[in-house]
Amino acid sequence: MRPPKPQGPLQVVVREITPAGRELLVDLLADGWATASLDGVAAVWERLELRGMLTIAGELAYARGRITGSVALECSRCLGPAAFVIDGEFTRVLVPRGTDQAAALGAADGAHEEPDVAVFDDGLIDLAPVVREEILVALPYALLCREDCPGLCVQCGKPKADGACGCVATPVDDRWSGLRGLQVANRVDSAAAALAAPAAPEQDENDQSGENDRSTSASKSIAREGR
Ligand SMILES: [Zn+2]
Ligand SMILES: [Zn+2]
Repeated sequence: MRPPKPQGPLQVVVREITPAGRELLVDLLADGWATASLDGVAAVWERLELRGMLTIAGELAYARGRITGSVALECSRCLGPAAFVIDGEFTRVLVPRGTDQAAALGAADGAHEEPDVAVFDDGLIDLAPVVREEILVALPYALLCREDCPGLCVQCGKPKADGACGCVATPVDDRWSGLRGLQVANRVDSAAAALAAPAAPEQDENDQSGENDRSTSASKSIAREGR
């Protein structure tokens, strides 16, 4: 078996971990790790670091670490940059794949790993998936650039925080005013139909003449609804 070859600072050869442990001090922005591993999630990292420790106990390894950094995300209200500070701690029990310990910890095949258990292969611990997962979990689903972000002008789309855009302010519910008018109009129609009801017999006479059949029966049905 070839000795395992670590790729990058997040991979550690188990046999090289001393009894005192292996300190982890990784700049995750170096070598473009964050860009490659978190592609499309957050483009502008200002700082992203991992500090931690890997220790060995028998066949198992323990990782504990703290990920800190800051990143510019998108404000979910005005779409401008919104700064987010990430600061999270994690622990993992790392078990060699296919061992009794892995089975006991529910990580037999890696398919149903416990949240704080991860497997490793061939004497090489790869913390990259762990670190990636921790960062993704820490990022907020929605973020505001500031608590009272006024958002975008609904008419021209400019951020309101940039100052007056010149659009005439209209009530927020303006879109529904047409619907309100419609409801009022319906009520007016019903009232008019009810008032028109006494005229129905006259229309019946017209009915017999054979003219305006359709409109007469229509006004009759409206008159019925109106009652
Ligand atoms: Zn905003
Ligand atoms: Zn505007």
